[in-house]
Amino acid sequence: MSQKPKLRVVLCAPRGFCAGVVRAIDVVERALQIYGPPVYVRHEIVHNKYVVESLKAKGAVFIEELNEAPAGSAPVIFSAHGVAKSVPAEAEARRLFTIDATCPLVTKVHREAQVHFKRGRKVILIGHAGHPEVIGTMGQLPPGAIVLVSTVEDVKAMKVEDESNLAYVTQTTLSVDDTHEVVDALKTRFPEIAAPAQGDICYATTNRQEAVKQVASTVDAVIVVGSPNSSNSQRLAEVAERAGCKTARLLPSAADIDWDIFGAIRSLAITAGASAPEVLVERVIDAFAERYDIAVETLTTADETVFFPLPRSLREVAAQA
Ligand code: SF4
Repeated sequence: MSQKPKLRVVLCAPRGFCAGVVRAIDVVERALQIYGPPVYVRHEIVHNKYVVESLKAKGAVFIEELNEAPAGSAPVIFSAHGVAKSVPAEAEARRLFTIDATCPLVTKVHREAQVHFKRGRKVILIGHAGHPEVIGTMGQLPPGAIVLVSTVEDVKAMKVEDESNLAYVTQTTLSVDDTHEVVDALKTRFPEIAAPAQGDICYATTNRQEAVKQVASTVDAVIVVGSPNSSNSQRLAEVAERAGCKTARLLPSAADIDWDIFGAIRSLAITAGASAPEVLVERVIDAFAERYDIAVETLTTADETVFFPLPRSLREVAAQA
């Protein structure tokens, strides 16, 4: 008979990879197959060290700026987070061959901002300063055309010239609940503000937050598998805490489990950010199985069938190959 203590493990579903991340990784892998290494990738293709290291091992070279890529025939891939307009413009000026792995749901936000701008509206972006997606979205319009806000306080402090000509868009990976508060503050202060038809927080962010929210108050601890620089992973840990779990941690890998915290629990929920591969979740489960007699169950709160095809340029080349 097992001498290990019992542990109930609830796997949140959906968790882990979203359609945009699957597509972005596929873009790099297909480019490596078609063109051979090296292919250059501007910034982390998705925010996950394991994914980046795996692609490096296959011949991808990650760069911060375009001037690190030599002119020539090797492709330069833009990450899933999207890029400012100045980036493809610079690439064209340097005659670089580029492939855009921006998630179509980020591109949708870019288009919304552009449409509002064409209609003469000041655009307010709800998001986190410094995140690559925010830099990319702000860079869709000329400097000063987009105002970034993160909190209700930011909304209250905003100075606006024409209150009747405003629109807002959001980062795709925000906390659904926090964003409602900021949107409410915007609508209260600017009743005529134009809103996205269906919201900009993506289906994957929404679904992962909903699953962890439902389970958080029923378990002793929550682990979010994901990288510390992954916005949607950070939000999952916050959502778990707010939903009533006192011990919610964002962990990049099983090696990061602090057994002083997780060594004496009776129930645990596990989820993963949209850029975290399932193998990292399996390793976390294995680590708990070494110390506990685990009983694994799955809480499914949504079925996901979203799929994004590869960029047309890659599909066409692949079809000719
Ligand atoms: S988290 Fe959402 S916006 Fe980001 S890549 Fe995935 S589907 Fe696209």
